[in-house]
Amino acid sequence: MSAIGYIEEDEIRVKARIFLYGKYADAPLAADIEAEINRMWNQPLVVIPVPDRYLKVRFQVRVEAITVEEAKQKMRENRSHEVNFVRVEDANIVERSMMGMGLGQNSGHWLITDQLGQSTTAAHEFGHALGLPHPRQLDYRGTGYPPLMAPRGTLVDAIFQWNPLAEPGAFGGTMKPVHRRVRQEEIMEVLARAVQVEGNFIIGEISNLYFDEMGNLAEPV
Ligand SMILES: [Zn+2]
Repeated sequence: MSAIGYIEEDEIRVKARIFLYGKYADAPLAADIEAEINRMWNQPLVVIPVPDRYLKVRFQVRVEAITVEEAKQKMRENRSHEVNFVRVEDANIVERSMMGMGLGQNSGHWLITDQLGQSTTAAHEFGHALGLPHPRQLDYRGTGYPPLMAPRGTLVDAIFQWNPLAEPGAFGGTMKPVHRRVRQEEIMEVLARAVQVEGNFIIGEISNLYFDEMGNLAEPV
């Protein structure tokens, strides 16, 4: 995803717009995804010291459903890092929700079967879009809630497993994604990867990739 962080009052406001298109793009889904992303990314308090004051980081993400034709039109015209496009369908060629062809892309293909807006998957994919990879560490036992960018299969304390009674790493003995939480260091990493232009933080890329129903790249014509 791409986004822009603006210094306004005593905050760095990270703003992004996500346009949903495809079979499952509708207003209730957009509202759920918007609520999940803003709730999760605003949970940690991150304060950045600058000369003579402190700036608090706040995420302001808006999600809206549009038609496939409207999405194609906007992709052809978009020159803003704040704008992102996500197709929502029930299947795709990689069999999971994804953001573009690499980190920091403003275009994705997500699966409705990932309980978007209820499961932390939308907020996790948003993290990839902001440029974050999966962490190298895959064992978070003894450290509290697992971080948002932890992938499936990560080892966690028993209460965060699919089945708290399972042996760590055995069937049911890995992280249930709903327990992920954004950590302060994940937000610091997003800002560290940003490019500063005229005092603003430019995050991610403008790729404007159009995906067909199954998640193949196609020309937006
Ligand atoms: Zn991931």
